[in-house]
Amino acid sequence: MHIQSIPMWTGKGNNYAYLVTDEPTKKSVIIDPANPPEVAPELKSQLAANKIDLTAIVNTHHHWDHAGGNDDMLSEFGKLPVIGGKECRSVTKTPAHGEEFKIGDRITVRALHTPCHTQDSICYFMEDGDQRVVFTGDTLFIGGCGRFFEGDAAQMHSALNQTLAALPDDTKVYPGHEYTKSNVKFCLQVSQADPIKKLHAFAEANQQTQGQFTIGDEKLHNVFMRVQDPEIQRATGKTDPVEVMAALREMKNSM
Ligand SMILES: [Zn+2]
Repeated sequence: MHIQSIPMWTGKGNNYAYLVTDEPTKKSVIIDPANPPEVAPELKSQLAANKIDLTAIVNTHHHWDHAGGNDDMLSEFGKLPVIGGKECRSVTKTPAHGEEFKIGDRITVRALHTPCHTQDSICYFMEDGDQRVVFTGDTLFIGGCGRFFEGDAAQMHSALNQTLAALPDDTKVYPGHEYTKSNVKFCLQVSQADPIKKLHAFAEANQQTQGQFTIGDEKLHNVFMRVQDPEIQRATGKTDPVEVMAALREMKNSM
């Protein structure tokens, strides 16, 4: 599979849309094309050059900076299916938790419901041979997680530390925003562990971090995936994993 990141609102929201292509068939989906003026020209040039065959819009959740471009994309590119959570703009298909579908011949997609940031949040785990990736929207960021707008700490604990943690450790993470620099600053306040220091150095040296880290890495440098770690428990003054998650989110919110 080929993944092209399309940054949107750089310097403001620092969002990413992602174009995912099954190379043998050129069948492609566009994930969260929320700002069509930044996404459509790239897609049009690839369509004109016969590099892609656009088959669907895929959304990670209903927020305007993820699903708000759907209607303009549909009027520019024709009547594509919109695969996403049930509150996403003009959605036509909401896959069940664990439901699989294909992109072209080789890419298998599995929808993982991860309610908390929004109740309709879905992560998409994709496999092509031994290449494994997950698009996590605003649920999991590199070194962080989304705010609990529509859910609670128990739901985020389940999303991160059960659903996403169960993916193979070599699964590369593609989040909905580039937030790593500020996330790792918070992680460093909570823990000085080596993997966190390493992530800090990487984020200082690189503008983009999507696809550079795996679920296995997140388990080491993301404090929200270390709620069982005695060091993180001491820093929060809690031991119950859900209470640790809640305390971390409150600490990060007030940073
Ligand atoms: Zn969001």
